[in-house]
Amino acid sequence: MRNLFFPVGGGNEIGASCYFIQLNGAKFLLDAGIRLHTDSIYPRFHSLYLENLLDGLWELDGILLSHGHIDHIGALPFVVEEAQDVPMYATLPTREIVDLQLNQSLTSATFSREELVDFPRVKAFNALRVQRAIENITPIAWHSPITCETCQITFFPAGHILGASMVYIESDAGNILFTGDFTPFDQLTVPKYQLPDDLDVDLLITESTYGYQESLYVGDIDEEREHFAQKIDRCLDGGGTILIPAFAIGRSQELALILRDLIRDGHLKPFPIYIDGLAQIACDIYEDNDVKLFGYELEKAPKDFIDALDTFNGVIIASSGMLLDNSMSARYAEELLPDPRNAVFFSGYLDEESPGRKLERLHESKGQRFRINERDIPAHADVDTYRLSAHTGSEGILSLIERVTPKKVIFVHGCPQYKTAVNIHRETCRRFQNRIEVYQANNGTPIYF
Ligand SMILES: [Zn+2]
Ligand SMILES: [Zn+2]
Repeated sequence: MRNLFFPVGGGNEIGASCYFIQLNGAKFLLDAGIRLHTDSIYPRFHSLYLENLLDGLWELDGILLSHGHIDHIGALPFVVEEAQDVPMYATLPTREIVDLQLNQSLTSATFSREELVDFPRVKAFNALRVQRAIENITPIAWHSPITCETCQITFFPAGHILGASMVYIESDAGNILFTGDFTPFDQLTVPKYQLPDDLDVDLLITESTYGYQESLYVGDIDEEREHFAQKIDRCLDGGGTILIPAFAIGRSQELALILRDLIRDGHLKPFPIYIDGLAQIACDIYEDNDVKLFGYELEKAPKDFIDALDTFNGVIIASSGMLLDNSMSARYAEELLPDPRNAVFFSGYLDEESPGRKLERLHESKGQRFRINERDIPAHADVDTYRLSAHTGSEGILSLIERVTPKKVIFVHGCPQYKTAVNIHRETCRRFQNRIEVYQANNGTPIYF
C-alpha cells in the first residue's frame, strides 16, 4: 500500500481542514473542521469513497486533532457518526476547547443562545453526537509518543492558541510532520512552537495562511501597538467606551494581556476591561491551564452589562470578531455606534461580506448610518483596525522548512489563488532549489509519497 496524502477539505482554502493520510498501511485523519460563512460547510468526505481510499470512516485507525478552532474540529460530530470506535487524540486543553465549542455553547445557560451565530450550523448537531465526539477524544501530552497501529505519534507545541499542536507521525515507511496552525513567535498567552532539534521529517504538511506576504505586519509591530494605545487613550480621555470585537478563542485572551501590558508599562492609564460572550467562557479554560487573565484590569462583564453602558469608561472585548448579527459584539456595537465619543476597534481578519468589514468600509467612505441586527442606526463612533495574528508570513514558514529540512513539503490551509508578489510555493522552490519537492494541496487530489 503506497503512502498517500489526500486533502478532504482545507487543501487550497482556509476552512474545513481535514486531511486523510495513509502511512505504512495505517489510515489517519488529521483534523475535521468546517467552513464558516458558506453553505457547504463540510469537508467532502464522499471524495474518499469515490477514490476508493475508504469504504467508510470506521476504517480509520485514528483521528488526530491539532487544535480547537472550529475550522479544525467542527465536523467531529458528523465524523463520529461513522467512526464511533475510532480513537481520537488531542491535548487536554484542545479537548476542553472542543467541548466548549461543540457542546457547552449549545447548552450553557450562562450566555444568550444568539451567541451561537458564530457557528450557525453547529447548532444543528444533536447533543448526543456532540457528546460522543468529546468522549472519544483521548488526551495526549506533548512530547509523549503513543503507538497507533504501525505508527508512533507525538504531539509538539505549535504556539497559535492554548493546546495547539504539531503532529509528528513516525513509521518504517517514513515520517510526517503536520503543523496545524502555528506561530513562530512568543505570544502573551502561549509561547512559540517547539520542536526537538533532531526531528527526522520526510513529509512536512504545513499551513500557509499568510504564505502570500513576507511578514505579518506591513509596518513595525511596536509602532502598530503604540498607535493602538494612542487611539484608546484618546477615546477614554473623551469619556468614551471602546468595543473590540474579537474571536472567542485565542485572540480575545491575547488582547486582554496586550492591554494589561500597555497599562503596566505606562503606555496607558489604568482603565477597566470587560470581556463578554463566548470569549468570557474561553477565558476560564485558559485560567485552568495556568494562563492568568483575571486579577488585573480584566473582569467578566456582569450580567446585563449591556444595559449599563452609559456610564462605562473602559474597554469591552466581545465575540464575534466579525460583528456577526446578534452576536454579543454586534449587540454592544448597536448600543455604542451612535455616540461619537465611542470607538470600535477590530482586531483581526474580516470576511469581505461580514458586518465588520461593512462597518470598516462605511467609516472609510464617511457614511453615517449602519445596518446591524436588522436595525438601521446612526454610526458616529470612531472605527479602526489593529490587526493581530497567531499565524506567520512566508518568512516564518520558510524558516520552519529550513529547520526540519523535509524531503517533501505540502502547503495546505492557504490562499494559493492570490496573485501577489510573494508566493510561498515559488519562494520554497527558489530557496531550496531541487533539494525539496514542493506541492500545493488541492481538495480531492491525492499526493503519493
Ligand atoms: Zn487556528
Ligand atoms: Zn485554521
